[in-house]
Order: sequence, then structure tokens, then C-alpha cells
Amino acid sequence: MTGKPILRLDDVSKRFGGVVAADEVTFSVFPGRIHGLIGPNGAGKSTLMNLISGIYRPDGGRIYFDGRDVTDAPSHKRAVMGIGRTFQTPRFLQRSSIRDNLLLGADLGSGYGYTASFFGRKVTGFEDYVEQLLEIAGFTFEWEDDISSLPYGQRKLLEIIRSLLGAPRVMLVDEPAAGLNSREIENAMGLLDFAAKEKNIGILLIEHSMDMIMNICRDIVVINFGRVIAAGTPAEIQSNEDVIVAYLGRNLEA
Ligand code: ADP
Ligand code: MG
Repeated sequence: MTGKPILRLDDVSKRFGGVVAADEVTFSVFPGRIHGLIGPNGAGKSTLMNLISGIYRPDGGRIYFDGRDVTDAPSHKRAVMGIGRTFQTPRFLQRSSIRDNLLLGADLGSGYGYTASFFGRKVTGFEDYVEQLLEIAGFTFEWEDDISSLPYGQRKLLEIIRSLLGAPRVMLVDEPAAGLNSREIENAMGLLDFAAKEKNIGILLIEHSMDMIMNICRDIVVINFGRVIAAGTPAEIQSNEDVIVAYLGRNLEA
């Protein structure tokens, strides 16, 4: 493996009561590459994203961003440092314009992470950049329209765009294809591909769509019951017996 990881998890563990949601998880994410994070429902995928973004604190292990130990850094600091994310369900300021949502896209779930990231690392040529991203995303809007006027699929794509506006170096993207039609899935893949190739962002992608995962990921890590059960290229993962038994077999039948 050449180059230094932008994100590294080292033996990260997290328990919720009797449930071990993350069990000594170790993996790295590299700049300019899309890393798939897959596994059955309840495996601990979203928990890992919450640990990386600082919403949860691990019970054990360390998290490194760009070589710095951020295990104890609060979530808004991590956002300012360059750890961006999107959520399974889009989160926006209700009854506000699209412009305000993009400018002050406050992350309602975790305080002021996005706000801090906008003021801290303001993108120059903001509107031009949004127009460029909308071309890839395949839709347009009126800046002053209410956020709720956009259909669900476009709001999900807009979440990826909003995250990109924070100029992240790592993006945590949780199930971007859920609820999207096939054209919107193509456009979501276009945005992620752009983020990795053109902006050199390291992307950690949770997704159940195997089409999407196998198409755009360079590396994949598979978890089950909070534990890494396999890691490798799409070809390696597709032919891994443990993965087929724990996840892929079931997923293909469904
Ligand atoms: P996934 O995203 O892979 O579907 P999650 O990370 O959401 O899985 O959940 C992993 C496990 O941790 C599940 O058993 C879930 O019920 C539990 N869990 C996640 N978050 C919490 C929480 N805040 N409190 C208690 N249990 C949780
Ligand atoms: Mg989840």
C-alpha cells in the first residue's frame, strides 16, 4: 500500500450495555479512494461513523485523522479539521431556503459541526462550486426556494453537496442510495467519484446496494456483530466464503 492513510481506526471498540457494537475494529481510509463499509443490519456500521465523527466516544482503541490522534477531540473540532459526513436520513433546517441550508447547514443532530466547518474553511466561489456539483448531481434549484420543495432524492444528493462545501478531507457517507431511483443513484455515484478523484477526499461509504459498492469502491471492509470479518478489493470480497455466508448470500436472496 502506498501513501499515508487520511483516517485510521486502531482496535476501536464500543459497547452499548450488553451489545458490542464495535469490537477491536482496525482499518484505514486513503485519500482519493472510496472505501466500502458493508455488513448486515445492526452490524455496527453507523456506530463506526458516529465514533469517527465524534458523536460517540470509544471504550477502547484510537482514531487517527491525518496522523493526529483525534480520539478525544469533540465532534465540531473534527468537522473543522476536515471530517465531513452525511446521514441515512437527510438533515436540514426546516422552513429555510436552500441557500441558508447550504451556507449554514447546521448539523441538528450533533450541535454545530457543519456551521463551524463553513465559517472555518469557507469555500471560495461558493455558488460556482455548487453549480458545478449540481451538474454532476443532475438537477437544479432556485436558491431562495424552501428546502422542503425539493423531492427526497434531491435532498439526499444535496446532503452530499453540502458536505463537499465544507472542503472535507474525509467524507463519511451513510447509505446514500436508500430511497433513490436508478438515475439518482448514478448521480450520487458521480458526486462521490468526483469527490475522490478530483478533490482527493478519502470516502467511507456505507451502502446496501452491491451494484454501487462493487462499482465504485477500491477497498471494502466487511463487519458482522461489530467485528471485521474481511477486508480487500471488490473481487476478493465477492469470493470470500465468510462474507457470502454472513452477508452477501443473504443480500442476494433478498
Ligand atoms: P448498522 O448501522 O450496521 O445497521 P448500528 O451501528 O446502527 O448498525 O448498530 C449496531 C448495534 O448497536 C445494534 O445492535 C444497535 O441496536 C446498537 N446501537 C447503536 N446505537 C446505539 C445506541 N445509541 N444505544 C444503544 N444501542 C445502540
Ligand atoms: Mg446504519
